[in-house]
Amino acid sequence: MDIFCKIINGEIPSFTVYEDDVVKVFLDVNPDVNGHMLIVPKKHILDIYDMDNDTLLHIFKITKEMDKLLKEKLHTEGLTLVQNNGLLQEVKHFHLHLKPHYSEKEELLPVEDVYKKLTK
Ligand code: AMP
Repeated sequence: MDIFCKIINGEIPSFTVYEDDVVKVFLDVNPDVNGHMLIVPKKHILDIYDMDNDTLLHIFKITKEMDKLLKEKLHTEGLTLVQNNGLLQEVKHFHLHLKPHYSEKEELLPVEDVYKKLTK
């Protein structure tokens, strides 16, 4: 079983900022920027080639909601989306990376500190 399936079924803890019946959104444990998060479908979908349109649409709807949360709680000013498939995909379970932008360069904070800011 891949590590994201284990997070989804509760075997492994995560810094979850949002979840519903279709997706779980949690902070990347090795972030590129503060607030780097992953949107992960709860059903095991390998990659973009394996993805159905309904789930994809939902993931992008949640992306817009997470962008609002990032703006409100972390005062971000933009967003880069990354989604790896094939050779560059380390975890073999579909995930969309949300990497927010800041007006000035930010020092990386511990993930738990970012989690507290996003969820308080
Ligand atoms: P990718 O290369 O797109 O497959 O990226 C996988 C991402 O998953 C990396 O950015 C990792 O830091 C992240 N990652 C791996 N294990 C965990 C975990 N247990 N919780 C949160 N993020 C993780």
